[in-house]
Amino acid sequence: MSAIGAHAVVLGGGMSGLMAAHVLADHFERVTVVERDGHETAAPRRGVPQGWHPHALVLKAVDLLDELLPGMKESYVQDGGVPVGMMSQHRLFYFGHQLRQSEAGLDTVWASRPFLEKGIRERLRARSEVTLRQGCFAVRPLAPTRGRITGVVVEKPDGGGPESLAADLVVDATGRTGRTRTWLSDLGYPLPREERVKVNLAYASRILRCGPDVFANDRAIAVGPRLDRPRGLYFTVQEEGRWTLTVYGYGDFRPSADTDEFMAQVRELAPDDVWAVIEAAEPLTEVRVFQVPETYRRRYDKLPRFPEGLLVTGDALAALNPLYGTGMMYSAAYALILDRRLREGIDGLPRRFFKDAGRAVAGSWRFSSLSDSFLPGVGGSGLPGAGLALWYLRRLVAAAEHDAALAADFIRVASALRSPVALARPGVLLRTLRPRTTRTRLP
Ligand SMILES: Cc1cc2nc3c(=O)[nH]c(=O)nc-3n(C[C@H](O)[C@H](O)[C@H](O)COP(=O)(O)OP(=O)(O)OC[C@H]3O[C@@H](n4cnc5c(N)ncnc54)[C@H](O)[C@@H]3O)c2cc1C
Repeated sequence: MSAIGAHAVVLGGGMSGLMAAHVLADHFERVTVVERDGHETAAPRRGVPQGWHPHALVLKAVDLLDELLPGMKESYVQDGGVPVGMMSQHRLFYFGHQLRQSEAGLDTVWASRPFLEKGIRERLRARSEVTLRQGCFAVRPLAPTRGRITGVVVEKPDGGGPESLAADLVVDATGRTGRTRTWLSDLGYPLPREERVKVNLAYASRILRCGPDVFANDRAIAVGPRLDRPRGLYFTVQEEGRWTLTVYGYGDFRPSADTDEFMAQVRELAPDDVWAVIEAAEPLTEVRVFQVPETYRRRYDKLPRFPEGLLVTGDALAALNPLYGTGMMYSAAYALILDRRLREGIDGLPRRFFKDAGRAVAGSWRFSSLSDSFLPGVGGSGLPGAGLALWYLRRLVAAAEHDAALAADFIRVASALRSPVALARPGVLLRTLRPRTTRTRLP
């Protein structure tokens, strides 16, 4: 493919920045990734504090990642990521019902966030067009003429003075804070409207060592929130025999960073056999806490004016509830959109990219906002149809306790393989509404 431009710069070397850089390397002669954090370690980086918490690759994320970087799933497994059957090796509780397990052939890979990121970064390093500038942060855009960004000024925290990087395209992948809104404001552009849901969600996680096969079958246990108990637990396998143990909660519930209090919160949520494994495991870290006060979607797609030469991707564009595990999936989805839109040329790229990206995230945003609005302590509810949707969903997961096909239908939607509309298909409706003879309540 002939190059569309000489140089593209990506700001932020997280999942979205790295994936965007892979695409840009197919379209530009040179690509520079500017990342504030310095050297990498196996532990989560300072700039990605969420890396201490579980990072599930939902099924759709695996598919998109493999489309973007063929063979990525396989190389994760070769490097030590743990293959996990979504229906056969996940023990999942929703609204107090355990979904029936089966051999539905829906497979993903579990690993820590630093491990997942490293796999993509190493493939990028192997590309001669790409330079990774670590320990270097973006300060301001270069905008000598109206209507266009022509590069970015970067600095190193340890001095050396500012440096200008000229670029045909700058991609802001700096995560939740995002640089672009400040830059737009400085340059006299309108700011994107933000849609928000106050989720008041908090995570507390700790890494333990106990081997991948510590349970006869399961490699991930997820005890979801209930209406009378808006908190939950994850216990999920990672590379190198480690597991992440997480307690999370909405509203007033605060998972504790104090080890004893944290373990008491775990005990309250963990099934007995899971607790026995946790108690016997070797703790490898302290407990880390992360707060997610709100989820948001920034409507760059609705702006009347936006400079050429600049794009925004990843969490800087939208961050949904992390419990639904869609963040990395959208990193890949936006990168694939970028590829498609660059094939048509660079003129008018922001408008075309934001339009597609906005459309791509719209369904998940509605689903995420609706699901969140069910829980006590979550603001921004009152969405039309929320009451009926909640009644139906609770009935469906209760039926899925005994019906493996229904459980798999639900997981396909929760993993973004299918639209939520699939749960209203006649077959699913019938099996959901069929009178039940057994009732079992679990954690
Ligand atoms: C608690 C929690 C749990 C999550 N769990 C999941 C999950 O299970 N599954 C899932 O798919 N997603 C999950 N996510 C979401 C996921 O972390 C993000 O969606 C994903 O990492 C994509 O983010 P990003 O690359 O846009 O931003 P980030 O990963 O935040 O990366 C931004 C990067 O930009 C760098 N940076 C910032 N400012 C500058 C600057 N001025 N100059 C240079 N560099 C800069 C930072 O150092 C960082 O490396 C979770 C999020 C949270 C908060």
